[in-house]
Amino acid sequence: MYTTDNAPPVVLIVEDNQANLLLARALLRRAGYGIEEAQSAEEAMERLGGTAPDLILMDIQLPGKDGLSLTREIRANPATSHIPVVALTANAMLGDAERCLEAGCVGYITKPINAREFAATVAGFLGKVAAPQ
Ligand code: MN
Repeated sequence: MYTTDNAPPVVLIVEDNQANLLLARALLRRAGYGIEEAQSAEEAMERLGGTAPDLILMDIQLPGKDGLSLTREIRANPATSHIPVVALTANAMLGDAERCLEAGCVGYITKPINAREFAATVAGFLGKVAAPQ
């Protein structure tokens, strides 16, 4: 996933809730990740028009177009289909995980965000790419 030896992985956080966005950003910055942010599907598409991130954290409930619809579009677009998408979901409802996977997410993280585990969980989704020190 790295294009250069020392560049930290870049995570695009798509989240409209300020508290969640600030927490996720702080935890991932502390772990050494590069961060991009979007608060809507439209903003996310703008970000994805630039350099591709290594991972996308996708809030499911967004104003306007929802996160699962956006994930399907990302999967269907050859320019972005290689980027893993991890759902951020507050829904503990049965079947929610399945809906995320059906939309093309590689997995999901339930909210509220667990501050002690979040960065390690993200590192796990990045596969063999270890979190930077
Ligand atoms: Mn939301």
